[in-house]
Amino acid sequence: MGEKLDISVVIPVYNEQDYLQNIYQQTVDSLKDKYSFEIIFVDDGSSDQSCKILEQLYEKDDRVKVIMFRRNFGQTAAMSAGFHNAKGQVIIPLDADGQNDPADIPALVEKLNEGFDIVSGWRKDRKDKTITRKIPSMMANWLIGKMTSVKLHDFGCSLKAYRREVIETTKLYGEMHRFIPAIANWSGAKITEMVVNHHPRVTGKAKYGLERTVKVILDLVTVKFLGSYGTKPIYIFGGLGIFSGIASVVFSLIVLYMKFISPKHLSMNRNPLLLLSAILIITTIQLILMGLLAEMIVRTYHESQNRQIYTIRKFLRRDNSQEQSNES
Ligand code: UDP
Ligand code: MG
Repeated sequence: MGEKLDISVVIPVYNEQDYLQNIYQQTVDSLKDKYSFEIIFVDDGSSDQSCKILEQLYEKDDRVKVIMFRRNFGQTAAMSAGFHNAKGQVIIPLDADGQNDPADIPALVEKLNEGFDIVSGWRKDRKDKTITRKIPSMMANWLIGKMTSVKLHDFGCSLKAYRREVIETTKLYGEMHRFIPAIANWSGAKITEMVVNHHPRVTGKAKYGLERTVKVILDLVTVKFLGSYGTKPIYIFGGLGIFSGIASVVFSLIVLYMKFISPKHLSMNRNPLLLLSAILIITTIQLILMGLLAEMIVRTYHESQNRQIYTIRKFLRRDNSQEQSNES
């Protein structure tokens, strides 16, 4: 058996030429005496000198790996590429702009070894703009906490420590890297957080503005839906359908009552209830059919990828067959 690599540090890079040398050096310094590690830089289509510098780092240090994208695919895609190619037992994403401090890594790893699957960094003393960054992020964290019941102060902090199994079973879309703890929580991951350093951006430009908030909210809706109803979508569509069906029946009964029993209330040409009950019955049919379609999609999704609707932590049994003990 070959020796296992302890840590993979994954660093997405988008036009960060001035800080790469520093972030490389700081990461090496914080890890070299304690762990075996690799550093995976993922260049997300930079248009500055980042690629060149990364090539030089690769040439002089064989712990460095570099993935170069053809164009800018976004931070989540960059992280994903790093995760997929990581060999370490623990995976640590880190920003390339120097806002995260690599010196925090050993403490995160120690915390992880206390028996957690994810240790999330918390930028308690965050050095970003208050109005466009800190306030939207505070609201987003609160909302995500409420919706997903994963209580973290800082979902947005890139610096986190993941046990490799957690990452292996998580697929990322859109800008969902912030939601890895929430997604992992469905599979039963043990999550905690830890205060980490945060520095102001000294070089390069921030890549996001206020529009990020909208994306975060939409991602949250997706995560919540998939998390709660991902394997049983008919419950939400059908539930709404039944609700509108009942409303439709109630309104039709009222209309019938007006027509036959108490005609003095009736003015058929201006009766909104009739219209409402007609619209609602159509809505009902649509919702239920949509729910059934969603059920079919879910089956295609799970069965085509041989995914299970559960995750197994451990399977104690006596026969030696290794196959199929844990597919998730
Ligand atoms: N980043 C990236 N692709 C992008 C945007 C950002 O790889 O399209 C990288 C960027 O180089 C940095 C990290 O993601 O290493 C975080 O970006 P930024 O510092 O702008 O975000 P913030 O600190 O505001 O979260
Ligand atoms: Mg930053």
